[in-house]
Amino acid sequence: MSDPTHPTLGAQAVLTEELLRQFDTPGPRYTSYPTADRFTATFGPADAVALLEARRNGNASTPLSLYVHIPFCESLCYYCGCNKIITKHHERAAEYLDALETELALVVESLGTGRPVSQLHLGGGSPTFLSDAELARVMRMLGTAFRLTSDSEVSIEVDPRTVTPARLAHLRELGFNRLSFGVQDFDPDVQQAVHRVQSFEMVRSLMASARELGYVSINADLIYGLPKQTPQSFARTVQQIGELRPDRIALYAYAHLPERFKPQRRIADADLPSPAQRIAMLGDAIAGFLSRDYCYIGMDHFALPNDALAVAKREGRLHRNFQGYSTQPDCDLVALGVSAIGRVGAAYYQNAKTLPEYYEALGQRRLPVVRGYALTRDDALRRDVIMALMCQGRLDFAPIERSHGIRMTETFAQELASLRKMADAGLVELHDGCVQVTAAGWFLVRAIAMTFDRHLQAAQERNRFSRVI
Ligand code: SF4
Repeated sequence: MSDPTHPTLGAQAVLTEELLRQFDTPGPRYTSYPTADRFTATFGPADAVALLEARRNGNASTPLSLYVHIPFCESLCYYCGCNKIITKHHERAAEYLDALETELALVVESLGTGRPVSQLHLGGGSPTFLSDAELARVMRMLGTAFRLTSDSEVSIEVDPRTVTPARLAHLRELGFNRLSFGVQDFDPDVQQAVHRVQSFEMVRSLMASARELGYVSINADLIYGLPKQTPQSFARTVQQIGELRPDRIALYAYAHLPERFKPQRRIADADLPSPAQRIAMLGDAIAGFLSRDYCYIGMDHFALPNDALAVAKREGRLHRNFQGYSTQPDCDLVALGVSAIGRVGAAYYQNAKTLPEYYEALGQRRLPVVRGYALTRDDALRRDVIMALMCQGRLDFAPIERSHGIRMTETFAQELASLRKMADAGLVELHDGCVQVTAAGWFLVRAIAMTFDRHLQAAQERNRFSRVI
């Protein structure tokens, strides 16, 4: 059996154009199962209150994960597909934080005060749109409502254009111990084409400051497939990131869906790299990171061998949540802020996507939850199967059969049969009692996971998602 956790071959060696042609179908990223497009409006604030109360009564001492969404950005990146509000009016943040405080009070009313939190993430938008004083206010609010455990992971997304070494020092004082820098690409032409100009020198100096300040883990996000990118230009970005040596690298594929994401209409189709160029960029980037000792974590993520994610991957303790891969056990996620998605017990919920709706609900002192999804037994089973594939690259039948009281070969006879095509192509190995994802299969692991997604049966639904590669 090959050792897929340490692919010794670069992606170009294991990933062929033929494999991509066959298996590069549109698919979800499985930060949840079922995916958020399945949530329905029949799930509302009263359901969310019931979930939080049930947790208070049944599971109060298990640490939580917290996500706080700050939606504002000062300027628009043309590739953006996030839920954000572009504004230069920083005074808008005060009203938002007032609403967030009300939401927090309502959550705590149902959940109880002082619940332990082992993971806190501020995302957006751009959380660093907030001033130092506003960020301090957010942390004070959260600190009053919850209790951060001594070993908690406290992370924030950082737009390099909005911070200085002094701001990073302030964030460190507030308790943040992990940073995620949005880099995307260092090439000046690409940066112009996506309207996000930030020099290599600026990012280098910020990362150096972050290290001096003792941040435990630094992540850099990159995107391939952007306008004006070429395999040569992206290879330079990969080289430069290699020099900065962040602990983690997330390498995302740009999905050009201008009919769905309005900002992308400013990107000319003619400026986009061809599919062959995208494959070359992906292959070169993967080979470049592996040759610099980064471990392949799965999907789009790489980490240095000593980083907690790489250790968790080696020890089979990797999990997946709305922020991507995580070292935290599969814990409940309380989400705060406009459009934020949480998960408590066996249900997901999402807040209102627009500020007027969000403010209106909170003005009436009701949770701003507008949709959600309660997992069925079948969903819970398939979620375990999909997460095993996405996180471990291996599906052992015995633990799933024990937890769900099923026989894998009977319940998933059809799915296992359809995996044969992938086995013939070298993406998985089918053994008695387990499915093993191969080194090549890791790069197409979403396509493998999709085999078990009951909600993806209707072929037309697939077009709603971005391409796998
Ligand atoms: S990519 Fe990030 S920083 Fe840029 S507009 Fe979107 S949310 Fe804001």
